[in-house]
This record gives sequence, C-alpha cells and structure tokens, in this order.
Amino acid sequence: MRDDEPQNPLRRDPRVERDLRRYRKEAAAPAEAQSLRRNPRAERDRRRQRPAVQLSGSGLQARSPDFATSSPQKNLRKGRRGEDPGAIASRAPTSRSPETEILRLEAPSCWVLVVPDTPSGTLTTHDRDAIAAARLIADNKDGGVIALAPADATGYGLIGVDRLVPLPGTDADTGVRLALVESILAQCKPAHIVLPDTPLGGGHLGRLIATRQSLNIAPGVVRISGGELVRLSDGGRKEQTLPMAPVVLVAPEVSDPKPGPRREARVLPVPAPPAIEEAVQDHGLLPVDPYSVPLQEADFIISAGNGVSDWDSFSELAKVLNAAIAGTRAVCDANHLPRHRQVGASGTLVSPRCYLSFGISGAPQHLQGIARCERVIAVNTDLHADMIKRADLAIIADAQAVMPSLLALLRETR
Ligand SMILES: Cc1cc2nc3c(=O)[nH]c(=O)nc-3n(C[C@H](O)[C@H](O)[C@H](O)COP(=O)(O)OP(=O)(O)OC[C@H]3O[C@@H](n4cnc5c(N)ncnc54)[C@H](O)[C@@H]3O)c2cc1C
Repeated sequence: MRDDEPQNPLRRDPRVERDLRRYRKEAAAPAEAQSLRRNPRAERDRRRQRPAVQLSGSGLQARSPDFATSSPQKNLRKGRRGEDPGAIASRAPTSRSPETEILRLEAPSCWVLVVPDTPSGTLTTHDRDAIAAARLIADNKDGGVIALAPADATGYGLIGVDRLVPLPGTDADTGVRLALVESILAQCKPAHIVLPDTPLGGGHLGRLIATRQSLNIAPGVVRISGGELVRLSDGGRKEQTLPMAPVVLVAPEVSDPKPGPRREARVLPVPAPPAIEEAVQDHGLLPVDPYSVPLQEADFIISAGNGVSDWDSFSELAKVLNAAIAGTRAVCDANHLPRHRQVGASGTLVSPRCYLSFGISGAPQHLQGIARCERVIAVNTDLHADMIKRADLAIIADAQAVMPSLLALLRETR
C-alpha cells in the first residue's frame, strides 16, 4: 500500500482481505458458475469427503502414484488388505474386483500424535485440518501419524492416519483424553502433538498437556511451512514465525487436506488408564444467557435480520436451542439487539458449527462475518436472497410462521 493511500482498518486484517478477494472473485463469475460454487466451504467439505483413491484400469490406486517412489521413506512398504466400509461405499459399482493399495508404515523416524475433538463421535472440518497438519509435519520428517479416535471410527486411513488409538465412548471428556495422551506419550514418544485450537476442546486439552509435561506450545498456528509454524499476532495484523513446537494448536484451514495414498489406520493397543481428575471439573453444557455468550466462541448462533418482527419467539427459540443471539447491522441500528451482537465486517466474525438465520438478505458485509461457519440454515421469504444461496439448508417461508412452529416441535420432542 502506498503511503498516500487512505488506510482502511478493515482491509489491514489479512482474514478480511482474503474474504474480500473471495467475494469479489465470486461476484465477477458468471451466474451459473456462482450457483455451483455458492458455498466454498461446503464445496471444500465435499472435495474432502472424496477418498484419496480412484479407479484405474488395474484397480484402485493412490491419486499421487509418485508418493511412494519420490518419498525417501525407506520404511514404507505397500501392502494390500480388505477395504473398510467407507472405501467400499465410495467406489462405483463395477464388475472388476479392484484391490486397494495401502501404505503400511512399520518403523517411521518419528510419530506425530493428533487429537481431534470429534464432538458426538464425528470429525469437524477443523479436526480434518488438524489431521492434515499432522500429516504435513510427519511427512517433513518421514514420520507417521497416530490419531485418537472414537472406537467405531472408519475412513481415517483415507485422510492420512497410520495408527488409531480408540477412545472409550464417543464423547470422552478431557480427563479421559488426557490420560490416554499421557499413555501414548509414554509408549510411543511422539515428537509432536497436534490439536485443533478450540476453546473447550483441543485448545484446552493441548494447554493441559503442555503444562503437565513441561512442553513448549505453539497456539493459534495458521500455517505450517517447511519445519516452521506461522501464527498471527498484533490482533491478526502481523505474521509471526515460530520454530516447530512439541505441542501445536492449529487454527481452522491451517492446512488443506491433500490427496495422498491410503494409510493403514492400524489400531494401537494402548491400555485406557483411569481418567485424570482435572482441577477444573467439566459439568458438560449448561444453559447460558443467549445474550452474554461471546459470539466469537459460540458453537450455535441464531441470528435475526430485518425480516424478523416476532422478537418474543426469536428470544424463546434461542433459549430452547441453547444458542447465542446475533443479528445484522440493520437490526442493531434499529435497537432490536445490542451493537455487540452484530455479525459482519464491521461487527464480529463468527465460526459456529451452526448459524441459523431468520430474515437476513445476505449483504456482502454480513456474509464476510459468517465465512467460517460450518453449516448455515436460512429462513427467508425471498428464494433469490444471497443468504439462501450461501445456506446449506434453506427454508423459503415467513420467519414469523417458522419460529413458533419450530418452538412447538422442539417442545414436543424434548
Ligand atoms: C461499511 C458498511 C459496513 C457494514 N457492516 C455490516 C455488518 O457488519 N453486518 C451486517 O449485517 N451488515 C453490515 N452492513 C449493512 C449491510 O450492507 C446490509 O444493509 C445489512 O446486512 C442488511 O440487513 P438485513 O439482511 O437484516 O436487512 P435487509 O437487507 O432489509 O433484508 C431483510 C431480508 O429479510 C427477508 N424477509 C422479509 N420479510 C421476511 C419474513 N417475514 N420472513 C422471512 N424473511 C423475510 C427479505 O427477503 C430480505 O432478504 C454494512 C454496511 C456498510 C455500508
């Protein structure tokens, strides 16, 4: 930027810069292409769900056949074995009987342990980013990846995991995970531990591990390049390079999962020790005041725009869903909600797992604020609203009719 150019504070934040570039590019694309790419995050998820194998004349082969030959990993040997249900389901029906090539890693130079959050037993996109980051760190050192995963987990081999340590139950709490991680540390001595930097999940667990084991920690890592870590400082305006750390807490999108050969994901017999009692007890999710949960940390947000007029039903719905309340600039300007609940370029950038919106048009400034939401549900009377294009699930109806119906349904089922 030239010295004489006016400085726009929004444009100095690299995340806002990137979102602006993305929206300009989308606006310039032809309408048909836009409708195909209307939700880049969902598109990326769909790409990621595709297995890293494809059908060839001789059978299922790794998408990057160079990997085995170009890699100096002498201890990697290719093998074949039965497929897991994920791989079988992903394959098109064929009369051929293709076999799956699996990279089996016997004695890597080091291990990288990854601990995804897996809420309710499923991988979030942030979890997948953490696994991709662990894979990247391991590949730089000819190492292998161990993942802590729910006991019934499948398909981890397709996303780069060499060994699995099963968790007891799907929603194992921090004390159980901590005890298992310490067992793995004693048994396999991983060189690095990678976790998603989530406030109540990996971010909390990673800090506990670092404190108890006296290990260096690198939080908020946004990029891994070579053997170094990059994180943002100065409120996200500057990049800071750090040496590789034993505990690495990664931000969303730290690393895009790259197609690679399918890995073994062999189960490691690590005995499950008794849970470690934390000084701070986890009592699970407690009902909270929907107006006081900080929007940056909210996991579930219910948001209102100009199309909402029944504010009683809106507040009631937030309470029943245990969701944080937010809104557009238009509703904050009209004093329906306090200013600190505004989402968008001049409000808060949010990243919940679910963003449920009522009567929001989807102005670019608002869409910038929800670029990192995992799932967006939009209720709007206008089929052509930009918010509907952005949504993963759209309901074309009057918000004043949907809110009480949803409330009645929730009360009936809970
Ligand atoms: C510099 C600048 C910064 C800005 N920053 C932000 C920001 O941070 N955040 C932000 O949100 N905005 C911001 N704005 C404002 C933004 O441009 C839009 O004006 C604003 O987001 C529109 O809010 P809205 O969608 O609630 O209202 P509207 O644009 O009025 O949209 C209302 C929507 O509700 C639908 N609707 C109407 N009735 C119903 C019904 N009964 N049921 C269901 N749907 C219904 C309509 O179809 C429409 O899509 C900014 C603007 C500027 C210039």
